[in-house]
Amino acid sequence: MNSSFIVTATTAIQNTILQHESELESLDRAIGDGDHYINMKRGAQTIVEMQQELATLAPDVALNKIGMKLLSTIGGASGPLLASFFMGMAKIIKEKGDTSTATYASAFSAGVDTIRQRGKADIGEKTMLDVLIPVATQFTAMAAQNASPKEISTALKKTAEQGMLSTKDLIATKGRAAGLGERAIGHIDPGAKSCQLMIEAVCNLIE
Ligand code: ADP
Ligand code: MG
Repeated sequence: MNSSFIVTATTAIQNTILQHESELESLDRAIGDGDHYINMKRGAQTIVEMQQELATLAPDVALNKIGMKLLSTIGGASGPLLASFFMGMAKIIKEKGDTSTATYASAFSAGVDTIRQRGKADIGEKTMLDVLIPVATQFTAMAAQNASPKEISTALKKTAEQGMLSTKDLIATKGRAAGLGERAIGHIDPGAKSCQLMIEAVCNLIE
């Protein structure tokens, strides 16, 4: 991964968010307050506007810049959490100083861990972590087995989709939906859906 890949990925992420407007909006209207699409759209727009600057930066610096910018621009619970993902990822890439698949896998996992710590949540609580944690685990395992980027991308898309679908039958214990109890059952978590879409979009670029 280099900075030109990051730039391309920002466009792919924006496209998929914009293409899923009604779905993201209705998911958060069902079990949240309806602003998740707006938050994601604003975040995507913000990172696309940074493209020229991002192209000139080393990957770790670019990812950290994205995180800091998102922190100050997206609202809601998801904004600071996603911001912390990029900053957590940047930290590992900076420390390791290489661009191997294994480094990206551990950077992704570190980003997910940052979300986990910041949001004090874990798998099974009907949040974006139900997508991100299984994807991080599989990414790390496949990188350790020297799987190719294409093989990894194909597998991670499936895992992300399964994780997203798994939120449907869960009761939420974190975030706004936590107040709904059993009424949250039957609805996919909006943050899980947007994370699945972003993972799919980035994996499609790699495939
Ligand atoms: P808000 O909930 O403040 O309206 P959004 O609608 O943008 O913010 O984001 C909601 C999403 O944030 C949820 O669908 C869920 O995936 C995620 N989320 C909320 N709280 C947490 C948490 N503590 N840990 C991880 N993800 C969370
Ligand atoms: Mg919301």
